[in-house]
Amino acid sequence: MNQTFSESIRRSLPAGLAGQDQPLPGASGAALSPAELAWELQNTLDPTAVLGRFSRVIQMAFPHDGFTYDHPGLRLHVSQGRVSRHSCTYNLALKGLDLGELRLMRGRKFREQDLAQLETMLPGLVFPLRNALLYRQAVEASRTDPLTGVQNRTALEHLLTRELASFERGGEPVALLVVDLDHFKHVNDTLGHSAGDRVLKAVTGCLVGATRASDMVFRSGGEEFVILMRVANPADGVRAAERVRMALEHCAAVQDSAPGHHVTGSIGLAFARRRETALELFDRADKAMYVAKRNGRNRVEVASA
Ligand code: GH3
Ligand code: MG
Ligand code: MG
Repeated sequence: MNQTFSESIRRSLPAGLAGQDQPLPGASGAALSPAELAWELQNTLDPTAVLGRFSRVIQMAFPHDGFTYDHPGLRLHVSQGRVSRHSCTYNLALKGLDLGELRLMRGRKFREQDLAQLETMLPGLVFPLRNALLYRQAVEASRTDPLTGVQNRTALEHLLTRELASFERGGEPVALLVVDLDHFKHVNDTLGHSAGDRVLKAVTGCLVGATRASDMVFRSGGEEFVILMRVANPADGVRAAERVRMALEHCAAVQDSAPGHHVTGSIGLAFARRRETALELFDRADKAMYVAKRNGRNRVEVASA
C-alpha cells in the first residue's frame, strides 16, 4: 500500500470472521481474546457505547487518538477522541447489511502490519454493532408514524417526559400544542380515505415547515398532531401557535390536496407547570383544543396557567 505523509486509507473488512478463533494480539499484557472482546461489546445495545468500548478495548493493540462513525441511513454520527492527521476507514457490512463507516485516526502513520492487526479485531465489532443497530432501528420504527414519517404517540410520551425533566432542572419553558384538523371526517367522506391520507401527509409537511428545527412534531393519532417546543416566554408560544394555525390555513400543498375543502386546524396550547406530569400537560392542551372547537374552530386557545 502506498502511504503518503498525510494519508487516508480506505479498506473493506473481509465479510468472513477471520481472527475470531485466535487470541487478539495487543501490547504486553493487553491481549484480549475474541470472546472477551465480544463480552465487552455485547452487554450494551447502544451503538455509541459499543463503538466507544471497541475503541477503548483495542487501544493497547492498536493505539489511536480518536474515531468517527457514520451511518447516514440511521442518521447516526459518532465522534470520540481527537481528530488526527492519519486515518484509516472501513466500510463495515455483515451479510449484505450495511453497518456504517468507521474511521480511526492517529498522528502516526498506519503501517500494513497495524492494519492487519486491526483487521483481526474488527470482526469482533461487527456482531455487537449489528445487534445494536437493529435494536436502534426497531426502537425508531416503534416511535415513528408509518403514514407521515413523523414521531408517534409513543415517542411523544418519551420525549415529553424528558423535556419536562429538563424544565424541572431549570431549563426553558415547555409549550405543548395539540392541533386537531377541523371537520376532517367530511374530507374523508367526500374525497375518500386515500385522499384523506394525502391531506394528512401534506399537513405534516406544513407543520414541520412552520416550526423550528428544534421543535418536535408528532402525529398523536388520527387527524391530531402535537407540537412540543421550548419557548423563551408565553408570548413566544402564543405567537408560534398562531403561526402554525395560519401556515396550515394558507399552505398551498395542504389546500390543493383537498379540493373543495378549506382545511384548518383548532389548536390548544398549554405551558408546562412545575411538577406537572406529561399526561397532565397533554390533558390541559387537549382541553384547550376542545375549547377552540367550541369557540368556532380554526383558532388557538391557551390553557390557564
Ligand atoms: P372536528 O372538527 O370536531 O375535529 O371534526 P372531525 O371530523 O375532524 O372529527 P371526528 O373525530 O368526527 O373525525 C375524525 C376523522 O379523522 C374520522 C376519520 O375518518 C379521520 N381519520 C382518522 N385517522 C385517519 C387516517 O389515518 N387516515 C384518514 N384518511 N382519515 C383518518
Ligand atoms: Mg378533527
Ligand atoms: Mg380528532
